[in-house]
Amino acid sequence: MSIFNRKTSDEEKELLRQQKLDEKYMNMALREADKAAASNEVPIGCVIVHNGSVIAKARNRRNGNHSALGHAEIIAIQQANKKIGDWRLDDCTMYVTLEPCQMCAGAIVQSRIPRVVIGAMNPKAGCAGSVINILQLPEFNHHCDITYGILEDECSQVLSDFFTNLRASKKAEEDLKADDPETAFEPVQAEPDCKDDSDHNQE
Ligand SMILES: [Zn+2]
Repeated sequence: MSIFNRKTSDEEKELLRQQKLDEKYMNMALREADKAAASNEVPIGCVIVHNGSVIAKARNRRNGNHSALGHAEIIAIQQANKKIGDWRLDDCTMYVTLEPCQMCAGAIVQSRIPRVVIGAMNPKAGCAGSVINILQLPEFNHHCDITYGILEDECSQVLSDFFTNLRASKKAEEDLKADDPETAFEPVQAEPDCKDDSDHNQE
């Protein structure tokens, strides 16, 4: 075997090792997303790893916390800051099941996280390449390495299952109401705007 081949094979092994690790931590983020779904929050999860140790695990809590800042990434960044006693998250990797929004992408840049691993993309609201790429704007002084598509199908599935169930329960509620003789003749209410739901925002 030539030196070149040996090098390539070592690089391939390293890539494979990294991919396995990425999948392991993305799975942890997915478990956080599951917990969010169980509390009727849009299922998005986030994990931050520092030198091989998990230092933060968080899920979307916007409804529960009554806070527009309750996104998984923001909560995870706060946990990680506390854990390592620094606002700078050098040597950290963030794993997040859905492409970050503008607020979270801004916080990732502000906390100097060097690497972000993303599960599913968010074509209508994502700010790590879909609408804009805040993590890699040349004008800013910090740029993240991004790895896309780790457990992408699983990360998308948890969101589509959540919205399918949500629509089904809304429909069941409406059907039930229509069957109720006391409410059957109530004027029909305008349909709530579900646009944001299908955008997979953390609403
Ligand atoms: Zn966000």
